[in-house]
Amino acid sequence: MPTEADTNCIFCKIVQGEVPCFKIFEDRETLAFMDISPVHDGHCLVIPKAHFATVFDIAPRAVAAAARTAALVAKAVDQAVKPDGLNLIQANGPGAGQSVGHFHFHVFPRKMNDGVAINWERVCGIRPAPAMVPWFLNHST
Ligand code: 5GP
Ligand code: ZN
Repeated sequence: MPTEADTNCIFCKIVQGEVPCFKIFEDRETLAFMDISPVHDGHCLVIPKAHFATVFDIAPRAVAAAARTAALVAKAVDQAVKPDGLNLIQANGPGAGQSVGHFHFHVFPRKMNDGVAINWERVCGIRPAPAMVPWFLNHST
């Protein structure tokens, strides 16, 4: 499991203290800090201290710790910034807009009609991918 610090990873460098950040929360397994190019005030990032590139390879314990910290920080941002809403965003791969290959949640406060492009048009209709059906059948209880 890829938990060693990755020497080419900017977020590992932040964890190691080699690159500065505006830290807002830290515990044994996670770190939260302000995003360097925020969309709105309060936009920050939550990462596991261990290096995992994506949700596809992160250890269950690390994703649980990161989710717990993301919920804690989201509540703090909501109370401080009083946005119109808040997204937790987690991207995996370039097609999903991931630019830093170290698993992270964006804690992303929103404003009404802010034009952020993740608000796609809602079109009704369930479209399961047929290739996923065997997986559903094996994992449902
Ligand atoms: P992604 O595009 O992977 O979903 O998000 C990566 C985020 O990391 C971006 O919003 C970007 O602004 C932020 N980021 C990249 N490098 C640094 C850095 O050195 N320090 C901080 N604080 N944020 C960074
Ligand atoms: Zn890393």
